[in-house]
Amino acid sequence: MTYPVADTRVTYAAGAAEASALVLHVEDLSDGRRAVLLDTTCAHPVDAGWPDQGADQAVLRTETGDIALLDCIVGATDGIGLHLGREIPVPKGAAGWAFVAAHIVAAGAPIAEGDAVRVVVDPGVRARTSAGHTACHLASLALNLAVEDRWKKQPRPDALGRPDFDGTAIDVSLIGENTSTDAYRLGKSLRKKGFVTEGLDEALPLLAETINTTLADWVATDAAVRIDRDGDALTDRRYWVCELPGTSARIPCGGTHVSRLGELGRVRVTLELHDVDGTSVLTMVTTVG
Ligand SMILES: [Zn+2]
Repeated sequence: MTYPVADTRVTYAAGAAEASALVLHVEDLSDGRRAVLLDTTCAHPVDAGWPDQGADQAVLRTETGDIALLDCIVGATDGIGLHLGREIPVPKGAAGWAFVAAHIVAAGAPIAEGDAVRVVVDPGVRARTSAGHTACHLASLALNLAVEDRWKKQPRPDALGRPDFDGTAIDVSLIGENTSTDAYRLGKSLRKKGFVTEGLDEALPLLAETINTTLADWVATDAAVRIDRDGDALTDRRYWVCELPGTSARIPCGGTHVSRLGELGRVRVTLELHDVDGTSVLTMVTTVG
């Protein structure tokens, strides 16, 4: 039983939904399911550190039929064992470790080391998830713009040079099909950084309207979107780049995206403020279409 010595090569960032691959390793997990490691994949794996975009829906097409992917998770191996998701004991890119996409299939699935397979991703789910992810980035930039006059101190700038409320306050981001949900903690540490929360509740309807107007303006430009990448290895850094008029927004991102804003059609947000264990949490739900 040998483990891969290099990161999985990934092609989803370039938009691929099909890939021919070689099975490098098959391992039975403690829950009975099997983890399949390939030399290359187009299936987006969920990341344990920042699990915003989930696993692609896909099959591994073999000579004997299709094997459904139950999950796809980022894992890591040091050549001795395979660690998945939160069980990875080292930071991404650690020397001596290969970071891999672990394709999780059912117990006893007929697949073995050395098999040639074709990874086939559901293109509809991928397209709708990509739309949700692009809309998520746009909405976060529009939100930063809408609340920029609420800062008493200058926080770090966002991809458009505005105060980065999203990057400073984000707690959880979840991408879905044609949707995303972002939760922001408006607690003591954010106020210490200079963000004014007074009167935010009453301002929400106007803020949402402002964000929706910005989003409509941006979508109307049909700006090009692309992923810049340092390489095709799973741990290579990747960036979402959107060529908005007069400025180019660049955000670190390991997900999948549409290639033009015009593909999104209508993008709208709703904002809600809730109290969670004594801390105010702002939730922004972004919807495409
Ligand atoms: Zn992203």
